[in-house]
Amino acid sequence: MQLSDATWPQISALETNLAVIPVGSTEQHGPHAPLGTDALAAEAVAKAGVEAYTNQTGLEVPIAPVIPVGIAEEHRAFDGTLWVSPDTFRAYVRETAESLAHHGFDRLVFVNGHGGNVTALRELSGEISRHSEAYAVAFTWFDSVDSEIPMGHGGPRETAVIRHIRPELIDESEAETAGQHASDHWGEWVAGVNLAYDSAAFSQNGVVGDPREGSAKDGEQLVAAAADGLCMLLEAVAERDHEA
Ligand SMILES: [Zn+2]
Repeated sequence: MQLSDATWPQISALETNLAVIPVGSTEQHGPHAPLGTDALAAEAVAKAGVEAYTNQTGLEVPIAPVIPVGIAEEHRAFDGTLWVSPDTFRAYVRETAESLAHHGFDRLVFVNGHGGNVTALRELSGEISRHSEAYAVAFTWFDSVDSEIPMGHGGPRETAVIRHIRPELIDESEAETAGQHASDHWGEWVAGVNLAYDSAAFSQNGVVGDPREGSAKDGEQLVAAAADGLCMLLEAVAERDHEA
């Protein structure tokens, strides 16, 4: 159930203590894919995973509005990219989660669509779980799936998902050159150290991996696989013994 579409009595009547919070980013995804790619993918996976859980258990679970801006300064060279500092992000996301816990939703699952948010989400989920009454974990959709479609950035995996969920947002006339000028790896690595802080240092158009290699059909399979993983995680989080 989308929390923002529900009334407060509808939220009161829910019989679960689970809640899902999609977390995105607004950042360049190459010349062919929308700035909102990570938020759109996180929302789609959250919705499909919660639907699977509801079908299995009969329990409706509230899905919070997506957090649209994340930790994305690494993409600052590309127009339209938005970011907040890790401190601001951790505080904002944690307080949003704790307001759900206040209403009795004290089993929280973040559904994340952006690599730059991973470390902060793990940290703040640990803080919530250790120092409040709630228990929280962070799920990142593209890390949850075992797929031969490469990840990259604005690459095959993300482009496939957007081709499936919002095909009108992919500029297909740019996809070919996006692939031709893409970098084939993330970062500039020496002795296990990434020397680059900004994506512009290793990708002239912001893309890593060839977006032509991910079809709408691949995207459908990726969302379904991520939704299965999320459904399994929701069951585990609901059943887990937890004491702060
Ligand atoms: Zn992305």
